[in-house]
Amino acid sequence: MKILILPGDGIGPEIVGQAVRVLEKFKAEGVPIELSHGLLGGAAHDAHGHPYPEVTQQQARAADAILLGCVGGPQYDTLPRAVRPEQGLLGIRKDLKLFANLRPAMLYPELAASSSLKPEVVAGLDIMIIRELTGDIYFGQPRGRRTNAAGEDEGFDTMHYAKSEVERIAHVGFRTAMKRNKKLCSVDKANVLDTSILWREVVTEIGKQYPEVQLSHMYVDNAAMQLVRAPKQFDVIVTGNIFGDILSDEASMLAGSIGMLPSASLDASNKGLYEPIHGSAPDIAGQNKANPIATVLSLAMMMRYSFSREDLAQRIETGVRKVLASGARTGDIALPGEAVIGTKAMGDALVAAV
Ligand code: NAD
Repeated sequence: MKILILPGDGIGPEIVGQAVRVLEKFKAEGVPIELSHGLLGGAAHDAHGHPYPEVTQQQARAADAILLGCVGGPQYDTLPRAVRPEQGLLGIRKDLKLFANLRPAMLYPELAASSSLKPEVVAGLDIMIIRELTGDIYFGQPRGRRTNAAGEDEGFDTMHYAKSEVERIAHVGFRTAMKRNKKLCSVDKANVLDTSILWREVVTEIGKQYPEVQLSHMYVDNAAMQLVRAPKQFDVIVTGNIFGDILSDEASMLAGSIGMLPSASLDASNKGLYEPIHGSAPDIAGQNKANPIATVLSLAMMMRYSFSREDLAQRIETGVRKVLASGARTGDIALPGEAVIGTKAMGDALVAAV
């Protein structure tokens, strides 16, 4: 298991540090883990003048899986767009052809009170949102700014999906559903968009290869509503880049805290980049306050999806549940009046429980 560690910026080094301790525990038990460390985002810009420098590119290509903290920070906001930290993230995803983004939204029963929805609506929630990551309106050409015939400034973007792009993400959706409850909901806007009409046709066609999976289709506006009305109706959702961007953030709020949710971005052969969904939290960086659980759960996803080590994935996930059941809480998941522990103490508890 050649694993590249990219702590990134802000709270990144603190939270990734705790996940590395879990990896070191596995390594000490004889799991064949080989760690290397590198720079991405603002940290890479500081050292090499680019958020995804050549040296990191080589490390990333050589690795089997990558654990990333988070990138960005106010000190980089005035940099030219091409060298901002987020460009490092977009760059590595593109370079490694990571087209499938898997974001689970689950609510641990111990945290049911931290969700913005009523506990009975969300308790036991466990859904997986699969977002296509390299196509759609974020990458379609042409795009830009121009002056129209009436002399007015306008901006324009192009929504675009090729059949093969829909096919490969549909396969990820169906395969993921096969490993779970065999229910897949494809989200589009086929009542309005030609891109979505193609999307729906292709997903339906691929579905014939997975007769055991119950496939349904939903318009994105309805899906946004159903996610807050009755989120437990979903198992796996598959959708395009822009709809997935929005729906996965919406779903993350169901889970109570942004500090709890992991993600995976995979290529066609399950090489992956694993990272928490939150940002670099500059407001609490360096203060031993950040919750490392999302990062440690990203490691569980890595063990499951890139290394097929369901046993190690479950040890991590069960460890997290044990720690939560014991009452350990960082500030972001503590209810008013509950005792709060720091990043390092949460790491100690996680390492012991795994
Ligand atoms: P953020 O996710 O960093 O923070 C939002 C809020 O959640 C803050 O109050 C923060 O303290 C809190 N928070 C986030 N993670 C936490 C954790 N693990 N434990 C406890 N609290 C946590 O979002 P933002 O403030 O909008 O962005 C800050 C920076 O992060 C920006 O530069 C942004 O561009 C970048 N960003 C990076 C990523 C990424 O690396 N994938 C994602 C989103 C934002």
